[in-house]
Amino acid sequence: MTQARSIAFIGLGIMGLPMATNLVRAGHRVSGYNLTPEPIQKLAAEGGRAATSIADAVRGADTVITMVPDSPDVEAALLAEDGVYAHAEPGALVIDMSTIRPDVARAVAAAGHEKGFRVLDAPVSGGEAGAIEAKLSIMVGGDPEVFAEAEPLFRVLGTTPVHVGPSGAGQTVKAANQLIVAGNIQLVAEALVFLEAHGVDTEAGLKVLNGGLAGSTVLTRKGDAMRARGFEPGFRIALHDKDMKIVTTAAREAGVAIPLGALVAQFVGALKAQGHGGLDHSALLKIVEQLSTKEG
Ligand code: NAD
Repeated sequence: MTQARSIAFIGLGIMGLPMATNLVRAGHRVSGYNLTPEPIQKLAAEGGRAATSIADAVRGADTVITMVPDSPDVEAALLAEDGVYAHAEPGALVIDMSTIRPDVARAVAAAGHEKGFRVLDAPVSGGEAGAIEAKLSIMVGGDPEVFAEAEPLFRVLGTTPVHVGPSGAGQTVKAANQLIVAGNIQLVAEALVFLEAHGVDTEAGLKVLNGGLAGSTVLTRKGDAMRARGFEPGFRIALHDKDMKIVTTAAREAGVAIPLGALVAQFVGALKAQGHGGLDHSALLKIVEQLSTKEG
């Protein structure tokens, strides 16, 4: 094991709880805080410390990790009076692993640097299964020397930590990741509805597709659940809607067109508007079905 660190883990949701648990199992001291109490108790049952606030969690921690839903949540967790920057130990390593806007990542990093913290943006890909199995892909923005210091921790959480550039660059790469994943899910959903309409055995069909150039992690991880219409999250539509807003806005800012991404963003938004924000993003299949269902 690498040197044991004292880690405060803020945000113990679908992703954060298994990630914090993996850090405990790797021998690190982990104090966890979440807005609701149940996951804090689950982390404590794994050998972590149950914190009662962010201030309590960061006390004595050399490293702080945040894994919360959206840009305003990261701003609240880091910048508020009761937040990380107001209470963390001097010089602490602060790593935001949430998926947020690249410009917000740059702003919170700058605010942290002003206070003497070392800050990285390190969003992840691989989903809940990747978090549980410690197989996340981690895209990291910030100072390369700070990345080198954090890399052993990233290797506890995932298999592919890569430094991709300065502050905010990790979030830009993650936005591209979300563009590819949404588009891939949409096409897998269309292929499935197409195969079903032709009466093909979809278990066999998806299996052989996954062995060729059409194969993907989406097919591997979600193909069976999509066949069964099992849309338990996973990754919630509401979060992917946030991410499609990030990537479509960032593309417009950069002056590039992402027409297929923009179309899928509309489908994700429509699902959320229909009240399906809590379903897994593979529920894009519902939209494909609605588009092909005869009335009456
Ligand atoms: P989630 O909603 O399951 O968990 C977020 C947790 O953060 C909640 O438990 C909430 O109580 C907590 N929280 C929010 N604000 C807080 C605060 N100020 N202090 C303490 N706790 C706070 O979300 P998730 O699926 O775990 O996703 C977290 C982030 O990871 C998101 O940005 C998401 O886009 C990204 N992500 C998720 C997946 C996935 O498959 N679920 C995959 C890759 C990336």
